[in-house]
Amino acid sequence: MTYFSHAPLNGNISPADFLVKNELGTFFGTTEAVFNDVWQKLTDPSGNSSLYISMEIGADLDVYNPLRRHLADRGILSSSAPELQRHLKKTHQGPVKIPNYGGGLGVLAGDTLKSFADLRLPVVAISLLYRHGYFSQYVDSELGQLSRSTVWSPEQTPTLYLLKDPHNPAMPLEIEVPFYTEDNQPALALAHLWMKTELSSTLDYFVPELLLDFSVTGNTKVIQETARQLYNASSSLTKALQRRLLGAGILPAVNALGITSRTIHLNEQHGVVVVIQLISEELQLILRHNNIEEASNEQIQEAARRISKKIVYTIHTPVTAGHDRFDKKLYAGISRKSCRRILDVLAVDADNPAAYNFTNFAMRVNRTANSVSRIHRDVTRRQFPAFAHKISAITNGVHHLTWISEKRAALFDSIAALDNWRKDPGVFTGIETLLKDHSFRSSFAKTWKRDSAQLFAYVNAMLKEHRNGMTRTWINPPNYLSSILSDHNLLSPEVFTIGFARRFSTYKRADLIFSNIDMLCDILLDRQRPVTFLFAGKAHPADEPGKKVIKHILSYQAELFEKSNGLANLIFIPNYDMNIAKMLVSGVHVWLNSPKRPLEASGTSGMKAAMNGVPNISIMDGWWVEGYNEGRTGWKFGKEEDIVSASLSESKESLFYEEDSASFYALLPDVLDAFYNSFDSLFLDKSLQNLLLNIPLFNTHRMAGEYADRYDLALAGDHQEKMNYFAKLYSSDNFSISIE
Ligand SMILES: *Cc1c(COP(=O)(O)O)cnc(C)c1O
Repeated sequence: MTYFSHAPLNGNISPADFLVKNELGTFFGTTEAVFNDVWQKLTDPSGNSSLYISMEIGADLDVYNPLRRHLADRGILSSSAPELQRHLKKTHQGPVKIPNYGGGLGVLAGDTLKSFADLRLPVVAISLLYRHGYFSQYVDSELGQLSRSTVWSPEQTPTLYLLKDPHNPAMPLEIEVPFYTEDNQPALALAHLWMKTELSSTLDYFVPELLLDFSVTGNTKVIQETARQLYNASSSLTKALQRRLLGAGILPAVNALGITSRTIHLNEQHGVVVVIQLISEELQLILRHNNIEEASNEQIQEAARRISKKIVYTIHTPVTAGHDRFDKKLYAGISRKSCRRILDVLAVDADNPAAYNFTNFAMRVNRTANSVSRIHRDVTRRQFPAFAHKISAITNGVHHLTWISEKRAALFDSIAALDNWRKDPGVFTGIETLLKDHSFRSSFAKTWKRDSAQLFAYVNAMLKEHRNGMTRTWINPPNYLSSILSDHNLLSPEVFTIGFARRFSTYKRADLIFSNIDMLCDILLDRQRPVTFLFAGKAHPADEPGKKVIKHILSYQAELFEKSNGLANLIFIPNYDMNIAKMLVSGVHVWLNSPKRPLEASGTSGMKAAMNGVPNISIMDGWWVEGYNEGRTGWKFGKEEDIVSASLSESKESLFYEEDSASFYALLPDVLDAFYNSFDSLFLDKSLQNLLLNIPLFNTHRMAGEYADRYDLALAGDHQEKMNYFAKLYSSDNFSISIE
């Protein structure tokens, strides 16, 4: 069975049919019929579509690229027609990294949009284009994390197009965004629009991702710099301005393209400035003039009530650093009086009268607010009691076609009971017979071994490169083991391997399990069992405590190795990205998650592991409260007490390192025994239960079903039925977690 066995486009379509030329430009990878279908839906006067707003979108082409896959499967690598040849070359050989994401939020956005495309939902995404991306991470064993900007070329990147001006096809489409000059005078910022076509797996639909590019000649230096790097936090002003560029750019962008969406989905409060604009417009109608400063509080609240009907809001974290508060004084310099009038009424910060609270603002002005897991819902209600009645849960998911390894996917393709799994991750539900099928069990174990082998080929090559590079660069290789291991003494994929990769924020406690190295080593020595720990992740360059955690990890390597007589190997893989994530979640033996409960919100890397049948070993936080299944799919450790206000503290003393690491050490021997003594029974059982219990729930098709409902899209009967089917694979919002 080939990748596209269900593809409606598998007929006699030639690559020339994949070339679309219209007034917005030339696009490759979609047919004219598909393009027109998408555009018709987004510009329909009914407004039956949704805008999806996110500061970041992660959809690297090296982990998922249905167009290239489709062409390669059919042997279409080149063409004698020069224009087609250019597009084919770009598709097959162009850059595969689009560094427009910093972590979980961006990858979630990318996964969500892929499912929207697969399910043919009328959605268009809006984000910014960062010419210097998110930073690239280098790691020096002495200095810790070093960062450099990631310069990339949107022009060379496949599936990404600079939109043309329909009225002047020789020029790019240019929009004007209300902004400010260096000395805080109102001015216009200019942006070009890039469009990434997020193609469905069968190429019969796409979701446009509009990326606003402010690196346009004519813009002030401040604007260009503000837009250059994702999450530039060089000052609160830059931070505020970057969010403003996103929020203020939304309406000009959709207006320029005639997009009519009546619903706006805000991810976090980053783009909430669009709501100020909508309220201003509404106030003009209410007042019948432009002098919004004269609006009464009641009129502002009435306008907000009307605008609320358009807004769906997802809050992604309970951590205070994720909630935007800006000083009123700072905001006075970068906003009109009328805008401040609105914020004065709607963006009140209960703790600090001198600040605007943008999270509170977003929480206030929406028709529905949702959190990203059940436990996060209950925590969010506690954090925003005034809005508790409208906060519900839509548990996150991951795009199964992106995250299930190629080798596992090929195995699933060969199983009759899993027919159609690519289109419907629900088919894994309840296939108990597969669990008892000896041939499937052994094929699955073999596939896993091959994924582990591939991961370790990468890690060993990396260590060798660092070893050889030592004399050539000023960087000290990040891994102590670079110099201990040699070409004859490599890390083995047979050794029990624990994976951990995520942003290095202090609440994620990456170094938790190394709290007591003596105890950890004693466990390994006692059983004479080796363990490899593979760690990866970036800390935001301005997050000093986060960077310190990376240094801790590096500094433990030698001690671990020596005290365990070489049984414990700890490796740090620099420059974590989606490709490294995919290798890790399919190549390791268990996936570790050790955040301080209940600060995780959801977490998605554990779901990626679950999709590959890799058991999690995790704190009972985020999605794992829902995915643990009484231990059938993995292990839990750590405190599990009722959550009270104090539980939300992020202070050092309340991170419970001692208690939660002790709980991990108490559990570890069982996990080691399961792997080394009963892999074919106990361990594989837990692994395979993930396919049955977790794939059907924690995928973005199901999540898209739940969001389509919140977007209130009017869909044709059979389309609606299909969305209902996906939404009903789960009921995210059921059940309370024990929170008093
Ligand atoms: C999945 C993913 C994340 C998010 O992982 P969490 O478990 O939510 O912390 C971050 N970065 C990359 C590159 C990912 O692929």
